[in-house]
Amino acid sequence: MTRKISISDDALAIACGANKVAEAFRKLVPDAEIIRTSSWGMHWLEPLVEIDGQGFGPVSIRDVEAVISGTSDLSIGHIEEHPFLTKQNRLTFARAGKTQPLSLDDYEAMDGWMGYRAARKLGSDIIIEMILESGLRGRGGAGFPAGIKWRTVADTPGAQKYIVCNADEGDSGTFADRMLMEGDPYCLIEGMAIAGLAVGADKGFIYVRSEYPHAIAKLRTAIAHCANIVAPFDIEVRVGAGVYVCGEETSLLESLEGKRGEVRAKPPLPAIKGLFGRPTVVNNVLTLAAVPYILAHGARAYADYGMGRSRGTMPIQLAGNIKHGGLFETAFGISLGELVNDIGGGTASGKPIKAVQAGGPLGAYHPPAQFDLPFDYESFTKAGGLIGHGGIVVFDDSADMMAQARFAMEFCAAESCGKCTPCRLGSIRGLEIFDRMAKDADLKAKHRTDPVAALPQMHNAPKDRARTISSDLQLIRDLCDTMEYGSLCALGGFTPYPVMSAIKNWPEDFGG
Ligand code: SF4
Repeated sequence: MTRKISISDDALAIACGANKVAEAFRKLVPDAEIIRTSSWGMHWLEPLVEIDGQGFGPVSIRDVEAVISGTSDLSIGHIEEHPFLTKQNRLTFARAGKTQPLSLDDYEAMDGWMGYRAARKLGSDIIIEMILESGLRGRGGAGFPAGIKWRTVADTPGAQKYIVCNADEGDSGTFADRMLMEGDPYCLIEGMAIAGLAVGADKGFIYVRSEYPHAIAKLRTAIAHCANIVAPFDIEVRVGAGVYVCGEETSLLESLEGKRGEVRAKPPLPAIKGLFGRPTVVNNVLTLAAVPYILAHGARAYADYGMGRSRGTMPIQLAGNIKHGGLFETAFGISLGELVNDIGGGTASGKPIKAVQAGGPLGAYHPPAQFDLPFDYESFTKAGGLIGHGGIVVFDDSADMMAQARFAMEFCAAESCGKCTPCRLGSIRGLEIFDRMAKDADLKAKHRTDPVAALPQMHNAPKDRARTISSDLQLIRDLCDTMEYGSLCALGGFTPYPVMSAIKNWPEDFGG
């Protein structure tokens, strides 16, 4: 019997050497069938090799011979029995690791197009009712109920309507959109086609950032392969330049229209006046990719997962200084501590965890004291944070939280679209204050350890004696207040989250 050797062709696996490993197997076992699959999401094991269900990882080209001869100590046993996978509820990523991304046969064999076929029979009203009943909320960050958005577009008159997929995944430590587009592109296409049936749109756009060349290539091929299945719904892939603020829906629409990616004032909502002034659904990749499951298995089957108003599952991305980084899809409600300690295995460095940032570069930093926090929209909002796109970035105790707070301001200054003053100028002023505080803190520390050597610098320090680190911190608080309540969009409005959470939870890092 021909041996089947599966290796992922996900961009992360390739970056870890998967292509070279595949080639080495091809040379060593020429009669074996080498299958390039999607990724299981166990990134610390990539390149992960599967032979007859048994997993080995991470495999380098030096290990290939031992894997084939059965003498390798890289075995992880039967892949699907790995605790990282058995603890998950994989609804959106049900096919991850199991199928070849562009194989229509593989897709069909694992429930592919089942939701779309059901949707064609059910019609617009019932599809939207199902999405509402499922409790599906936008997975891109804001968590707005998808069904309400769809209902608004369906009810707004217009000869032309659009489905726009926001694939401008830009949060730190996030890769779920990329994995889905590379590993299961038909799932996204199916979700978009169902959205089209629901609201009466026959045209869709996927706006992908240019940093995702593998995803772009896979999407384009997949769209060509299944054009006749979803016809007359038609999809185009548009490549964005990788600007963070283009992940904001109105800015994305501007960019899609060929203009500078600048945030639009709302109202009008894009659901009423969106792309080229037409009613438009803008949902991100994970939102649309959750739709086929809901249509295929029923709204209740999806809503049965989760807690409170956070229904269904969330593909959570574990990244940063973490031992077992990767994609972990689970029902809402799992605690933050469980995610980073039990699932993620703690830090990769082996040092204690100091902070966890959830929700991207604009999410709050959470200390271990908050590890009981359930992973759901409302709990994180109550704790002054956000779950955003489901990214979790772990820091060990060597992290300098003043540097992290400064980074938030630097990021905002670099990515601001410039439309409103609190964000455009506030972030620059914030940066300046942090730089001044860092200098003061250095000087203070030097004075404590070597007062004589520090004297000349103390003498030359600015003469505004009234200014101290605590008055600078007050300035930062006031500035954050202005940014949070005065900014037009989430970039300026949420930058205070990482800054204020760092000041609140690690005051000792701010040189006081
Ligand atoms: S908050 Fe920043 S990114 Fe958003 S509209 Fe204002 S200037 Fe632009």
